[in-house]
Formats: sequence, C-alpha cells, structure tokens
Amino acid sequence: MPAPGELTFAVPRGAKKPPRHLADLSPAERREAVAALGEKPFRAKQLSQHYFARFADDPAAWTDIPAAARGRLAEDLLPELMTVVRHASCDDGDTRKTLWKLFDGTLVESVLMRYPDRVTMCISSQAGCGMNCPFCATGQAGLDRNLSTAEIVHQIVAGMRSLRDGEVPGSAGSADAARLSNIVFMGMGEPLANYKRVVGAIRRLTDPEPDGLGLSQRGITVSTVGLVPAMYRFADEGFKCRLAVSLHAPDDELRDTLVPVNTRWKVREVLDAAWHYAEVSGRRISIEYALIRDVNDQAWRADRLGRLLKNHRVHVNLIPLNPTPGSKWTASRPEDERAFVAALEAHGVPVTVRDTRGQEIDGACGQLAAAER
Ligand code: SAH
Repeated sequence: MPAPGELTFAVPRGAKKPPRHLADLSPAERREAVAALGEKPFRAKQLSQHYFARFADDPAAWTDIPAAARGRLAEDLLPELMTVVRHASCDDGDTRKTLWKLFDGTLVESVLMRYPDRVTMCISSQAGCGMNCPFCATGQAGLDRNLSTAEIVHQIVAGMRSLRDGEVPGSAGSADAARLSNIVFMGMGEPLANYKRVVGAIRRLTDPEPDGLGLSQRGITVSTVGLVPAMYRFADEGFKCRLAVSLHAPDDELRDTLVPVNTRWKVREVLDAAWHYAEVSGRRISIEYALIRDVNDQAWRADRLGRLLKNHRVHVNLIPLNPTPGSKWTASRPEDERAFVAALEAHGVPVTVRDTRGQEIDGACGQLAAAER
C-alpha cells in the first residue's frame, strides 16, 4: 500500500533528469551548493537576487560577483533549462502562447494572458499527461515525464521578464497592467501527479524576494482531475492557493469515460476532498466543466450538478469545449449552454462561462505541442 498522498503513476523509464538549477533548491540548499563550489555562502543570496528579482540569468550582468566565479556559478546553478521554439499571439496581442523545448527535446507550453487589470499565466507541470482524458490534446499523447521544480518556475520567470521588457505590450499597452498576478496550473500535465515538484514550485513562486518571486498564494490556482489522496495532502501544506477540480460530469458513469481516473476515485470522494480543502484553506473551490455537445450538457446533468454543489463554498467555471483535431466532439449549442447556466443558478450555485482566449492559436491544452509533433 502506498502511503497516503503517494501516487503510483509510472513515469516512463529511461527519462533523463533535467539539470539541477537554483530554483530547485531552498535558500539553505543554495548556500550549501555555493559553498560546495568553494564560494562564500552569501553568493547564494546574490544569485537569488539576480534570478528571482531581476530575471538576469546571464552571468555577464552579475557585476557584484567576481568575473572568475561567474562562469562556475552559472554552470553549476543556472544551467539553461529551456529554449523558445516559437511564440504565437492573438487577441490583439493580449494572449501569447509559448512553445518550449527542454534540455532533452521534450516540448511544453505556457500561455500569457493580459487583461485590463491583471496578467494571468497558464503553465505546465508535466511534459505530456498520464490522465488520458479523451477530449484533451495533451491526454492523447501520454506522459513524457515530470517537469523539475525549476522547469516549472522558469516558465513564469521568462513570462515576467517578457512583460518587464515590453515584449508583450498587449492592446492596452499600459505598464500598470503588466504585473503578473495570477498563475494557473492548467497547461500540460496533472500537477498533483508531480506533487513534490509542484509544491516546491509554489514555494519558489511565493517566497518573498530574493528567495522567490514574491507572488501571492491567493493568485495561484492548482487544477486537478481529482487525485484524492494528493488533494488531502495538499490541504495539509497550508497554502492559500485556489484548488480547481476538473469534474466534467456529475455522475460516475459518464465521468469514468471523460476523466478515466474516476474509475479509481469517484465523484463523491473527489468532492469530499474538495470540501475539505475549502474548509482548511478558506478558499472557494473552482469546479471546471467543459461543455461538450450532447455528451455532458443535458439539463438533467446540470440539475444533478447543482444538487451536488449547492450550499458549498464553490464556483463553477463552464468551459466551451475547444475541439481537438480529429475529435468527434464539439462545444454545446448556445441554448443548451444557457439552460445549463440557468439550472445551476436555480440551485444558487455561482457560475461563469470561461472566455475562450487563444482559440486561433491552438489555445486548448496541448494543441501547440501536438501540432509540432
Ligand atoms: N490536469 C489538470 C490541469 C490541466 S487542464 C486538470 O485536468 O485539471 C486544465 C483544464 O482544461 C482542465 O479542466 C481540462 O479538463 C480542461 N481541458 C482540457 N482540454 C480541453 C478542451 N479541449 N476543451 C476545453 N477544456 C479542456
């Protein structure tokens, strides 16, 4: 029996490990690593300042560190983790998707979305995904490997640097709106199946500068298919992050097919774990529900969902299905979507329909990487 919260999803054998990076390490581990190179421990703080506060991973810019030491420190602690394959923009430049190539050639995606009052970044936690949801492009390709903590963090560091340098001006173009405040783990991968590295990444994102990026936990959303033991373990971390649960069906019969891990943890158990998280964190649970025409969008399913959710600390996010290439499924008819919303509202359950940013740049999970392959 695995310990509670230990997951047994296999990572493909033979996967090489990404190089160790400053962002993989806690502040104490950084001091040890620097000392092991024969450098003064305070260099760890200087490096952290360069990376987390200035996004400067080019050693030429580290003028407070002797030139002779820079190369050694850079090689050991700030190796290149990923390179841009390409960017794709739409929505008047307010949405920019980036396809990254990692050290071993695997591909992952991140998306930056500018809104008038905030910037949200959608990041990947795994290369590929092992959850096999049939409507999701990433699910079709399977799992390549887990991302390291630093590979997760670096997507955000790169996004913040692009914003700072004015590379993503957006339609608004104002500097005020250029601050990254929201991070969603809704790119490739199942974050709770890469538990330790995702938790490490949340610490790096939220530790104050220069130990980390100084972002607010409240602006971070972790989205899960419903890995129940890991949801309880995540509640124990004491974060104030938002938890999103990809439900997609209120009944086990349909959910077994749309979110195959449901054959292991049922709707009831997933929701109980979600309510536990809401209680411990004080945050409303976000329920994700992709509306798929004539599959999960019937009025009776909306009513059943409303009954399951009412009187809980919850908000429903309806996502019009973004069809993956070759899929037999498509988004719901507008009248069915309206009826679905009305049925939830009749139970007093707050609901919004997600705006569909980035459709013309293959915005749905995994589509950019799938096109590249
Ligand atoms: N593995 C995590 C996070 C990644 S996906 C999870 O499943 O929650 C983020 C959200 O996008 C999930 O709710 C997922 O079900 C949804 N999604 C994936 N493909 C989609 C598509 N083609 N159309 C609409 N939503 C999709």
